[in-house]
Amino acid sequence: MGTTARVGLVVGFAGLDTPDRWPRPRSTPRPERLGASVEALHGVGPTLARRLGRIGVETVGDLLWQRPRRYEQPVPSKRISDLFGEEEAVIEVVVRSASSRRRGRLKILTARVGDDTGEIKATWFNQPWLEEKLSPGTRIRLRGRANRYGFAVSTYDLEGDVDTADFAPVYPASEDLAQKKLRDLRVQALELVREVVEPLPATLLAREGLPLRSDALTAVHKPRALAEAEAGRARLAFEELLVLRLALMRTAAQREQATAAPLDEPSELLERYRASLPFTLTKDQERSIAEIDADLERSIPMQRLLQGDVGSGKTVVALYALLRAVELGRQGALMAPTETLAEQHFLTIDELCAPLGVRVSLLTSSLRAREHNVARQLIASGDAHIVVGTHALIQKEIDFHDLAVAVVDEQHRFGVGQRSALVEGRSPHVLHLTATPIPRTLALTVYGDLEVSELAMPPANRKPIITAWVAEDRSSEAYQRLRRHLDDGRQAYVVCPLIEESETRVARAAEAEAERIRGAELKGYRVGCLHGRLRTAERRSVMASFRARELDVLVATTVIEVGVDVPNATIMIVQEADRFGLAQLHQLRGRVGRGAEQSYCLLVSRAREELSEGAVDRLEAMVSTTDGFELAERDLEIRGEGQLLGARQSGFSDLRFVRLRQDQSLLERARDAARELENEGLLAEHVDRLLDKSAHLGES
Ligand code: ADP
Ligand code: MG
Repeated sequence: MGTTARVGLVVGFAGLDTPDRWPRPRSTPRPERLGASVEALHGVGPTLARRLGRIGVETVGDLLWQRPRRYEQPVPSKRISDLFGEEEAVIEVVVRSASSRRRGRLKILTARVGDDTGEIKATWFNQPWLEEKLSPGTRIRLRGRANRYGFAVSTYDLEGDVDTADFAPVYPASEDLAQKKLRDLRVQALELVREVVEPLPATLLAREGLPLRSDALTAVHKPRALAEAEAGRARLAFEELLVLRLALMRTAAQREQATAAPLDEPSELLERYRASLPFTLTKDQERSIAEIDADLERSIPMQRLLQGDVGSGKTVVALYALLRAVELGRQGALMAPTETLAEQHFLTIDELCAPLGVRVSLLTSSLRAREHNVARQLIASGDAHIVVGTHALIQKEIDFHDLAVAVVDEQHRFGVGQRSALVEGRSPHVLHLTATPIPRTLALTVYGDLEVSELAMPPANRKPIITAWVAEDRSSEAYQRLRRHLDDGRQAYVVCPLIEESETRVARAAEAEAERIRGAELKGYRVGCLHGRLRTAERRSVMASFRARELDVLVATTVIEVGVDVPNATIMIVQEADRFGLAQLHQLRGRVGRGAEQSYCLLVSRAREELSEGAVDRLEAMVSTTDGFELAERDLEIRGEGQLLGARQSGFSDLRFVRLRQDQSLLERARDAARELENEGLLAEHVDRLLDKSAHLGES
């Protein structure tokens, strides 16, 4: 395989400096072949297809649109007797024998391998299918590290293949998707790269000196050197930025025609609101409020991003903006990306509003028909002063009496289209909230001309949370520590493992875990359980008991990610922490450290060597810092920019290849190119998809 792919590459890139000599596609592309399910590839059955689906790869084409997380540098080839320390190395060996066994969920494959200088025991995790290929006498190249148990294999080449020691892409793998497999599939997909349609006009390609899309994909997945991979990436990033820019231009054109009714000076209601808060606002909160007030005086609808780390006090500011609408007899709406988030916000806001005589309604798609109707009527009549909801709020049949201010929470989880849908046909002032601190360049790129307010300092002088990473087999020590806090009169959270299947299964697992823990680690303590399948009233009562210290511990799913606020809770255990994303872990951790006491977060996971590279990076990042901004940057490095934006769906238009921190000039070129394009041409479809897809995002 090496040879043909290499020839293809040389041909493909021969024209990098002389665009007019690029070979024309052999025939009309047939993009439908790329749309075929990954099961069309050799060696992909339903199980593997499902695993790929979990990382967003459903079609053959999706494989091409995943960016390698990095490239493996060549490492020296060594003889077994020369292996020294834990340095990475490649050994070329012959298999003597192989066997496999299980340890819990883990499948361990070991092989005795040797060269003329000695023998060593090589170990693979979770790749049981390999065993049958390792018959005695098989020649194999292994890349990995020697340790006291033998040689831990990271990648390998069987027979003729020579990926491993060379410059090779490393894909975001998961524990059940081996790097080797991902590379093999990529090679198969690349055979269809000529079916990729070129959306950029030839004149633009020539002017910018950019390679064809298909060549760029080849360069990214099968580069001979880093520079080639980078040139390919930049080409694909340029296209993504161009599409994004065009989408922003479309929405901006719509918005420019909108006018909003200016709101007068804040009055008595806002004074009562301030007086009702048990604290004074921080300087940053005051400044944000002043910026919002200034926006609201204008007839151009406000478009402001309020950015602040977990616990920085965004809710108070957001509610201020909503109350500005209410004081004039108009309405405010808060849109959250998931049902549970919407409900948490509803509970928080309702509690703050009730004493002010402000009526708050909840609207989500899980309401029964009757409740839904009631809510709709309250919204239409204006009896609901503030409405909190999910994307259900932007559905056609929802008719606001007089919407003046809209707050969109967790901004980055919504796409461009969905954000504009709440605004369409009305023109409220809009405040966007984000807890994931977004680097300014990223914010400007993705949200266009949003103004940014920032809550940089947390309210009280809170102590940074101490975070530890605990291996599973020592989790009893974590619980011991937790019990000490309980014995001191503090409270705690235990976060259940993330199960992807369904909210119902997650809920059941959480209840089972609470039950188990009541009879085991936390025997004798009062343990409550919180998950997304509880009705709002039940959840409210569990939260109320926890707040009133009638419960010592909350066993919870990620519903506690946001909005849960109990300063007496000082310690959290996160089970199977390797399964959570970095942003999510940071949010979860934000549930402790809300009072003056020193707080702790204990991340429990399987042993380090059993985890994927990404999981190790995430956990290390959590231990090393509590700074949300730094974590966001690390998250960018680990996951790629696209995913920070919450664009988890697969598709062409996500920012997969962009690296915003280094792509400043590319960004400017894309912006200029967007302005100069006479029409969207073939890109129109991608712009549609970006806007349309984002309009359906968040339906979880
Ligand atoms: P965010 O939404 O930014 O994560 P919250 O709005 O939930 O943060 O606020 C976190 C906690 O800090 C809440 O308990 C809130 O009541 C409290 N809080 C907010 N502003 C202040 C302040 N100025 N002083 C003291 N506590 C505050
Ligand atoms: Mg909040």
